[in-house]
This record gives sequence, C-alpha cells and structure tokens, in this order.
Amino acid sequence: MLPTERVALGDAVGRVLAEEMRAPADLPAFPSSAVDGFAVRAADAGKTIREVGESAAGRPFAGRVEPGTAARILTGGVVPDGADTVVMVEDVRIVGESVTVPASLRAGTNFHRPGADVRAGDLVLTAGMQLGAAELGLAAALGFAELEVHRRPRVALMSTGDELVEAGRKPGRGQITDSNRWALLAALREAGAEVRSLGIAPDEPGALRKLVVDALQTADVLVTSGGVSVGTHDLVKPLLESLGTVHVGRVKLKPGKPFTFATLPDNKLAFGLPGFPVSSLVTFEVFVRPALRKLQGFARLQRATLPVRLGYDARATADRTEYQRVTLRREGAELVAETTGSQSSSRLLSLAGAHALVRIAPGDEGIRAGTIVEAMILALP
Ligand code: AMP
Ligand code: MG
Repeated sequence: MLPTERVALGDAVGRVLAEEMRAPADLPAFPSSAVDGFAVRAADAGKTIREVGESAAGRPFAGRVEPGTAARILTGGVVPDGADTVVMVEDVRIVGESVTVPASLRAGTNFHRPGADVRAGDLVLTAGMQLGAAELGLAAALGFAELEVHRRPRVALMSTGDELVEAGRKPGRGQITDSNRWALLAALREAGAEVRSLGIAPDEPGALRKLVVDALQTADVLVTSGGVSVGTHDLVKPLLESLGTVHVGRVKLKPGKPFTFATLPDNKLAFGLPGFPVSSLVTFEVFVRPALRKLQGFARLQRATLPVRLGYDARATADRTEYQRVTLRREGAELVAETTGSQSSSRLLSLAGAHALVRIAPGDEGIRAGTIVEAMILALP
C-alpha cells in the first residue's frame, strides 16, 4: 500500500479513505423543521393560538413556545424550546396573528430529531472505501475539510516496438499506430493512477534501458506493452531480469500468454503487457487493476461480478483460461451474455462496448449456451 496524505475535500474525489470516519457530532445537530409551518405544542390541538415569532433557517427564534402560542417556522429552522411538534402551513388557518391549529396534533411530527441521521460516535465510513459524491458530502456535513487518503500510484507508461508510430501520423509500409498507449492510459487513469506517458521505446536494448531507468526515478509502477514474447526483438523480459526479479514471465491465459510481472528495488512493480491490443487490456484487467487498487488501499481489489446466462456456446482453449468479451442484455430478471464476435487478440472491436469478461476454464468442454456463469462486469448495459 502506498503512503497516505491529507487532502482537501475537492482533491479527495475518487480517492480511497485511509482511516475510518466516526461522526464527531449528531446530524442533524438540532431539531430541524422538515416543512414550512408553525412550531406548536401538541396539547394546543384544535385551539386558536397566538404567533409570537419566527424561526427561519440559520435564524433561530430566541424565545420559547409557551402554551397558547406558536412560532412560525421555515424548513431547516430550529424547533424552538417548548414546542413539541410542527404543523404544516397548509393545515392551519391564519387570521392576523391568530393561528388555528388542527384538532388532531401528534407530538414529534414534521421535524428531524437531533442525531436522527447520524449519532455522535457512529462509524460512518471505513478505511478502503472510495470517496464519491455521497461520501464527500457526508464528510463535509460532519465538519471535515480534509481527509486522509492513500497516494495515487505514479505509473510510467510506454509502448515498445520499432513498428509503432504516433496516433495521427500515417503509418508507412509495415508500420502500425501505437494504440496500446492510449488504451492503457485510459485504463490506468480510470483505475486511479497518475500516469506519465513516455512514448514509444525502440526495440534497442540500450535505449529501452535508459528510458526505463529514468522513468523509475519517480514512478511506483512501470507498465510497458509489447516486447515480451519470445522473438529476438523482445527485450522487456531480459531488461526486467537485470533490474529486479521477474516472478511471472508467461501465464496460461488467452489472450495474454506473454504477460510478465517483476518486482524492482524500492518496492516498485513492473508489468510487461503483451503487444496485442486486446491482450494488453485483458491482462490489465486481470492483473494490473487489482494491483493498483491494492496500492491505493481499496478494500475490494476485484471488479464486481454477476451471474449471467450464456447466450452462445463458448468453446474452451485446451490449456489456457480464456476471458471472452461479451455484451449483456436484460431478459426478464436475468442478464444474457452474447459474444462480441471474433475474439482475436488484435481485434479491439471485441472489447469496444463490451459489458463483461466471461472466464472459460481450460479443457475441451467449453460452456454450453444457457449455462449460468459469473461475469466480470466492465460496464452494465
Ligand atoms: P510484441 O509483443 O511486441 O511481439 O507485439 C505483438 C503484436 O502486437 C504485434 O503485432 C505488434 O505490432 C502489436 N503491438 C505491439 N505494440 C503495440 C501497440 N503499442 N499498439 C498496437 N499494437 C501493438
Ligand atoms: Mg514488439
């Protein structure tokens, strides 16, 4: 986990709370009117009583509501001492300073009691929760202007490959556009990382090494794409071996077989993602995102999963777990998964607009249409 820092509420959006939050005081702090009307005593039901003052939001009535009197009250106003209920303006008859209240009045209506929402000492947020709109609103309501959160991981991102050209440039013969860097930039940012994009590294050991060593001066995590298969130009694995310890150099996963993971000095992590666009994003989901969440202190590391009914016959790969891309549609109370078409590891279209990844265990069985499987949700339909 990365160290924590104290940040202002506005900078805490999307961050992960590093410590539990207990309410320092009741919410609401005072009996607060829920309506516009009159603060009265229930014992005065059916009587015509005298208006003696007003309690507006932020401007409480200084006096007491004695028997036979009422204080005009506005939404958010403090229910004055002596009053035990609030009657809505629509339910009274007003003539000058005389107010006739209904014959049936129940004590304790139309206002929020102190501590009704949150009691002093209540545990309201726990460490590991992500701070979204409601959590930040609650923190502010309880009087916190700054929060202790985990630092965002600093990630250095680079593509490798002599065939790559920058997006927007026309590729020459044999060249292709570097798409992984933009896909991974988006995935990393969305996962909470601060990304330093280092461009395209050539398939040349010296140049690649210099770029990586420089990047690691400031980064917590290195993410590369390409250069991890076993071709002679695949330089990432030997480089990581020389800098630290490679723990994984190949996985039984489709797509994503050449996925590489290393630890480097000073607790830094390196992920060598495969070059094929779908492989790089699927291995990101399976390995990199949970690691980034761990670094940020998230209580839950995995994406949410939901049971879905397969709408197609899913063929399995003999010796590798397969993550197939699917769209989801509602059918009654169920979600039905349909394949996004060709699952080629170069075909980004299989992932564009996909709602989920479905895990197909290795073997020759596959999974028949109609079977309920657990899907890793990317976005709900
Ligand atoms: P590699 O892992 O370097 O052998 O690359 C495998 C395949 O992915 C090759 O067809 C590469 O051209 C392609 N590829 C590698 N890097 C990228 C990238 N940054 N953007 C798009 N395709 C890539
Ligand atoms: Mg390459």
